[in-house]
Formats: sequence, C-alpha cells, structure tokens
Amino acid sequence: MTTTPVSPDHPDGRPQDGADDDLLPYLRQALTLATANADAGQLPFAAVVVRDGQVLGTGVNTAGRDSDPIAHAEVEAVRDACRKLGGGDLTGAVVVSTCEPCAMCHTATLVAGAARIVYAAPKEYVPDFGGTPRPDLTRLQGILREAAPETVTHQPTDGAREPFDRYLAVLAAGGAGR
Ligand SMILES: [Zn+2]
Repeated sequence: MTTTPVSPDHPDGRPQDGADDDLLPYLRQALTLATANADAGQLPFAAVVVRDGQVLGTGVNTAGRDSDPIAHAEVEAVRDACRKLGGGDLTGAVVVSTCEPCAMCHTATLVAGAARIVYAAPKEYVPDFGGTPRPDLTRLQGILREAAPETVTHQPTDGAREPFDRYLAVLAAGGAGR
C-alpha cells in the first residue's frame, strides 16, 4: 500500500481538494482527449496516468463504440499504462481524470497500485445524457470515498465542463453513439 507523503499541501498526510496544481497540465490534457472523444460521438470522459512528471498511459470512454459498459476512461488509461510499461504495477502513479470517478474506476486505480485519483469535474457537473439513473452506483461511489478519502481528490480546473458541453452539442446534432 502506498502512502501519500506529508507536505505543507497535505497536512496530516491527506491530499486536500484543490492542492494538486502541479497536475493541472495533465488535467487539461485529459479534458482535450475527452472533448475529442465527444466529437467522435463517444461519452465525454478521459483519463491520464502520471508518474514522476511522465504520462504512462491515456484512455477515453469507449463503452458505446465497443459495446463494453466497463470501458470507462480510467480503466482504459490504467490498461494502456500497464501495457506500455509491460507490467501491472502503477505504484506511485496518479490517475488524472476529467470527472469524479465511479466506484469501479476508483477501485481499478487502487487495484493497479496507483496511489490515488484526481479529477476535474465533480459528478454534479455531468448533464443528463438520457441514460438510466443509477442511485445504487452513486451510493457505492460515496461509500468508497468515505472509506478511502486519501485516494480521491477534486482539483478545480478551467474548462472542466467543456467535454460535456461538446457532447450535448453532438447529441443535439444526432451524432452520438457511433
Ligand atoms: Zn468509471
């Protein structure tokens, strides 16, 4: 198990929301990927795996294209990073996501050994895309956050809503889900 080092930004060793300014370039990179994914008619989510200032892997949500409901951006980014490393150990890495992770992606991050997940958009930013509400998954998400708060952090990021706005425009034009 990896622990976050204690620093002035992380009093008591727990990262505070908004204390990850150093990850902003990667959050912006992920937002650019998510916006491009929306333009391609796929769900507007993306993630980047970072360690020691190096991008190890990236992923976008391909659930629609691949008929794969678990092809979330964070899972795809973890898979990409592990493939490129030739191994499954992401110790010390951070998964940087455009959006607050669901329970599966939070868990996948930790299973792969990454230290934590940092996200740009709180789940409240996600518009209604016409899917079925899943209060059970929202409840699991909350339980995990409460159980391991040091492993998930919100970093406010300019443009965090842009992928969602783009996807809504694509939906309105009838171009989603190709
Ligand atoms: Zn997810």
